[in-house]
Amino acid sequence: MSMKVSPLRLSKRKLKNTYHNLYKGYGRQDWWPGDTPFEIMVGAILTQNTAWTNVEKAITNLKVEKMLSARKITGARQNTLARLLKPSGYFNIKAKRLKNFCSWYLDQGGFKELAKKNTDELRSALLTVNGVGHETADDILLYAFERPVFVIDAYTRRIFSRLGLIAGDEPYDKLREAIELALKQDTVLFNEYHALIVNHGKDICRVKPKCMDCVLNQDCLFRRTSGQIG
Ligand code: SF4
Repeated sequence: MSMKVSPLRLSKRKLKNTYHNLYKGYGRQDWWPGDTPFEIMVGAILTQNTAWTNVEKAITNLKVEKMLSARKITGARQNTLARLLKPSGYFNIKAKRLKNFCSWYLDQGGFKELAKKNTDELRSALLTVNGVGHETADDILLYAFERPVFVIDAYTRRIFSRLGLIAGDEPYDKLREAIELALKQDTVLFNEYHALIVNHGKDICRVKPKCMDCVLNQDCLFRRTSGQIG
């Protein structure tokens, strides 16, 4: 007999309140930085395990060398590409991943053909690429293809669990689907929400949180139960 997995139910009201408080605190984020969908995809791959400022330097290198195209990257020598990507860290691995991604991208027919797939098909296709995990695939879906997908990252888990909205260790897709269900399929909202979460997680709700400076501190379970005051 198959066991039925119960769906995760999240409070729409609390998720919306959190969004409004973050938005009030930080304002519009204008994500994702990038002039084209392809540049956004490159950024999503390079941002793994590094700060965005380092990614910007690597993308600038690609632009200066006129290498920011799938064909140029696929045809580049591994060493040359790794040298250009050096500021983004793990540059040998990232050069391999980027080449891999670009040859897959060209095989698929590029943006126009990929954009014909529905979101689930496109996610499954992205997840077949070596080096593209759930978060990267969803970054690409949301910011390059403008699909209504809620990206889950470590900041989302940390902030939402501290607020008492989630446990924090739910499987990726279960959490993503629950948030998408609660907030409905809203690309503009999801774009802004994820950007605000990253901003907040990076600067305030860090491993050692700065609760005194936090725009969410009135609603935070962690702050109430841990007696955090700063
Ligand atoms: S009050 Fe503290 S723990 Fe809670 S969300 Fe803000 S920074 Fe994070």
